[in-house]
Amino acid sequence: MTLSYHIASSEQRPQKPIPLLGKDCVIRSNVPLAPLSSFRVGGPAQWYVTPKKLEQLQASFQFANFEGLPITFLGAGSNMLVSDSGLSGLVISSRHLRHISFEKETGLLNVGAGELLPRLAWKAARMGWQGLEWAVGIPGTVGGAVVMNAGAQGKCMADVLVNAQVISSNGQIDILSAQDLEYNYRYSKLQGKSILVAQATFQLQPGENPALIRAITSENFHKRRSTQPYHLPSCGSVFRNPGPKPAGWLIEQAGLKGYQIGMAQVAHRHANFILNCGGATAKEILQLIYHVQEQVEKQWSLLLKPEVKFMGDFLEVASL
Ligand SMILES: Cc1cc2nc3c(=O)[nH]c(=O)nc-3n(C[C@H](O)[C@H](O)[C@H](O)COP(=O)(O)OP(=O)(O)OC[C@H]3O[C@@H](n4cnc5c(N)ncnc54)[C@H](O)[C@@H]3O)c2cc1C
Repeated sequence: MTLSYHIASSEQRPQKPIPLLGKDCVIRSNVPLAPLSSFRVGGPAQWYVTPKKLEQLQASFQFANFEGLPITFLGAGSNMLVSDSGLSGLVISSRHLRHISFEKETGLLNVGAGELLPRLAWKAARMGWQGLEWAVGIPGTVGGAVVMNAGAQGKCMADVLVNAQVISSNGQIDILSAQDLEYNYRYSKLQGKSILVAQATFQLQPGENPALIRAITSENFHKRRSTQPYHLPSCGSVFRNPGPKPAGWLIEQAGLKGYQIGMAQVAHRHANFILNCGGATAKEILQLIYHVQEQVEKQWSLLLKPEVKFMGDFLEVASL
């Protein structure tokens, strides 16, 4: 395909949307990312696209390669802190890569990367398919969960994933097994790579009693809601659990519950959550993350490692 896109300099933004493969998929400029991230902070994407099909995804990669633009992937934005200055290059959102198919005979579940985990967990529960009850409280997409090895209640993606269909920036499509992804605690080898998860296949157990699976799913859902603050924007747990004590406990013991910088606050209900209490900036949140790290290190001689992904330029904060 011959490509000829006409991108003006950044001073001329916003520009008219650029159609990709007809009018069904357009690349838009200067798109606010705060509403697309669970922290509700961050500046705009220089360029933004939400492909629905594989061909549109491949064309999006081609566009970025042709223009020499860096690429960032976005799922539900529930595990990222987007810089106040936004993201340069092309943000490819996988939220519209949606399809679900349950294979009754094998117990395999094939899903598009944009499907949301809670929706999937409830759907499986209603059908009496066991295996995703733990995922109901994780507000991310399948793609983000595969990359993060998301987990709860002692279970994680690595326990159910059979394989993932991925696409590289040169348009190449591959199937990677769970073993290929080198899963570890909240880790896969896809993190930080220019490889997008387009679809995933999970092994579940069909034929269970739907009422029972629904009850377990519901219990997990309510337990999460009563112990974690879902009422204000956050990214869930900010830090990885270093073990043997959870990060939340270490932060709480350092006396940081309720500690606030600007409108960013260490949650009272769960100290490993940082809340945007209304109008917080990414800079304030990052300053609070640094402060928590410092205080915990002082008290416990242990440096907490962030689980949240930092997207964009934070140089200004780093030099404070
Ligand atoms: C209230 C709350 C509770 C949470 N509870 C949990 C929990 O119990 N357990 C847990 O593990 N997490 C939890 N999280 C964090 C988050 O929901 C998970 O990490 C989730 O898996 C992130 O998915 P996402 O689609 O939002 O990814 P995003 O935040 O959009 O992206 C996360 C990373 O994955 C990359 N990425 C996203 N989609 C793709 C794709 N299709 N292909 C390639 N790379 C991609 C991004 O570039 C980024 O680096 C919670 C978050 C919130 C807000």
